[in-house]
Amino acid sequence: MPDIIQLLPDSIANQIAAGEVVQRPASAVKELMENSIDAGAHTIKLIIKDAGKALLQVVDDGIGMSETDARMSLERHATSKIRKAEDLFTLRTMGFRGEALASIAAVAQVEMKTRLADQELGTLLVVEGSEVKRQEPVACEKGTSIQVKNLFFNIPARRNFLKSNPIETRHIVDEFQRLALANPEISFMLIQGDELIYDLPAGKISARIINLFGKSYQQQLAPCQEETSFVKVTGYVGRPASAKKARGEQFLFVNRRFIRSNYLHHAVMNAFEGLLPESTFPFYVLFIELDPGHIDVNVHPTKTEIKFVDEQAVYAVVRSAVRQAIGSHNLTPSLDFDADVNLISKLNQASSKSNEVYFDERFSTALHRSNQENWEKLFETENQVLVNQDDEQSTVTTLHFESALNQPESKPEDKVLFQLHNRFIVKQVKSGMMFIDQQLAHERILFEKFLNQVRHKSGQSQQSLFPQTVNFSPADFAMVLEMQAEIEALGFRFDVFGKSSIVVVGIPANLSSGREKELFEGLMEQFKTNQTELALPLQESLVRALAKRASIRAGQTLVREEMQSLVDSLFTCGTPSFSPDGRPTFFIFELNKIENYFR
Ligand code: ADP
Ligand code: MG
Repeated sequence: MPDIIQLLPDSIANQIAAGEVVQRPASAVKELMENSIDAGAHTIKLIIKDAGKALLQVVDDGIGMSETDARMSLERHATSKIRKAEDLFTLRTMGFRGEALASIAAVAQVEMKTRLADQELGTLLVVEGSEVKRQEPVACEKGTSIQVKNLFFNIPARRNFLKSNPIETRHIVDEFQRLALANPEISFMLIQGDELIYDLPAGKISARIINLFGKSYQQQLAPCQEETSFVKVTGYVGRPASAKKARGEQFLFVNRRFIRSNYLHHAVMNAFEGLLPESTFPFYVLFIELDPGHIDVNVHPTKTEIKFVDEQAVYAVVRSAVRQAIGSHNLTPSLDFDADVNLISKLNQASSKSNEVYFDERFSTALHRSNQENWEKLFETENQVLVNQDDEQSTVTTLHFESALNQPESKPEDKVLFQLHNRFIVKQVKSGMMFIDQQLAHERILFEKFLNQVRHKSGQSQQSLFPQTVNFSPADFAMVLEMQAEIEALGFRFDVFGKSSIVVVGIPANLSSGREKELFEGLMEQFKTNQTELALPLQESLVRALAKRASIRAGQTLVREEMQSLVDSLFTCGTPSFSPDGRPTFFIFELNKIENYFR
């Protein structure tokens, strides 16, 4: 039998390697920007078009490359950053694998311009799918500019696999934010289309945080600082009261490299223990510095995981740093205290205002109707039960009859219906007692309603009586604009107002007016949570977010009509038994089980 093993051609090997290094536009952004940081740039500019799918470009003023190096940089395993294995243990650069440029060039059309400071002319290189198309001298700025066009142009399957523009943009912004946080002494710019999204001057980390996330972060930051013989932790944590429902503003850096670590996240959460509102996450930006010999970053090509030689010791120092920061800054009443009190009373007002419940006419599709018939069977009350009562119970029965007489329109099965602890609706049904979670049930109702409207493009809007302004961080603002059509399909209407604010002029017709700002902010916050935790189509993700945010809450008192309307609406839903995120909306405590308790 002939020998059959052959070495793969470079272009194919590079494409395969690219599968690991370049998963989406954001990963190319990360690699290019890290190269610029390694090249000692003072200024790094990122330009993206069409969420990086059409173009992503990184321009730096770093050391640049010679003609030979420019050509070499595109080869796989070509790097200026390590020479020998031991160098891995003293690593101070972001890159070292020498794979990124080769991988990117294998799956895109790349144009590189680069010039060393002491040279008059630079080098232009054009590469397409690993193939060098042009190489010539060019007049250009000192430093390096790399344009990556039509990422995955030669791998349609990958290209089709990319998510919608808002999602890919979000990933790019995430990478940008991480690198900008880790390197406050470098100035960064992010340009999307023709719009300047971020313009971050070089400066202190605190200023960088505020420039990235907004002025409101100014009051909420508590500095962290803790040092032992082998590890140093610095950075900022947010006040517990400002913790958010959405994850995404938690940043851990080890030797300036952004990392994910559930273990160290736990250390931070542990320090916050007992101080955070339920299921919220505090803001933090923490820098851990230790001898590169004590960590191994060579775990995964994208390098967001890392191994520590002594993980437990790092855990202890992180927790103690955060504890101290919270202790000395956040909990002692200060000038901010008043602000908090106001905030709480405002929140209370907001929630009492939302006491008006907004229920809606039933859907009238065939599916819904047949569903309702099924559910009505469940509610049927056997009249004999009422007749065959012994004496004691008959008084109770009489009471029920009376109340039924007072409300001639109410059906006999509706007579036992009440709210338990302002959270659950309890209703008598044929087989026993039904317990409904009011919040989950309402989420289900709104979810189906909004989804239906969005699908049929019938989202009605009502004009706001008092249009409210909502301010966003530049990145969120860009996301809102990108999704304008989808958001309007829900029934929202808004105008752009200033640099990164909007005025909400209309809200979905069936929601109560007066909470425009709260609703819109909640919608976007929830949407971001959904995006990080679930892989849902954009529309459904938005609809879910709105249903969650607009639904009545546990703790809200409902009058009888509201309860009745909620129950009726629930059982006209397509999937009444579960909330949109899959939790049961109700359960039935069966009569025979109740009987068993008395045996
Ligand atoms: P790595 O960063 O792991 O070395 P890359 O493929 O990202 O691998 O880059 C290969 C080499 O190209 C780098 O080692 C560096 O010498 C050079 N290089 C890449 N980008 C730049 C840049 N922006 N400025 C200067 N040199 C660069
Ligand atoms: Mg690199």
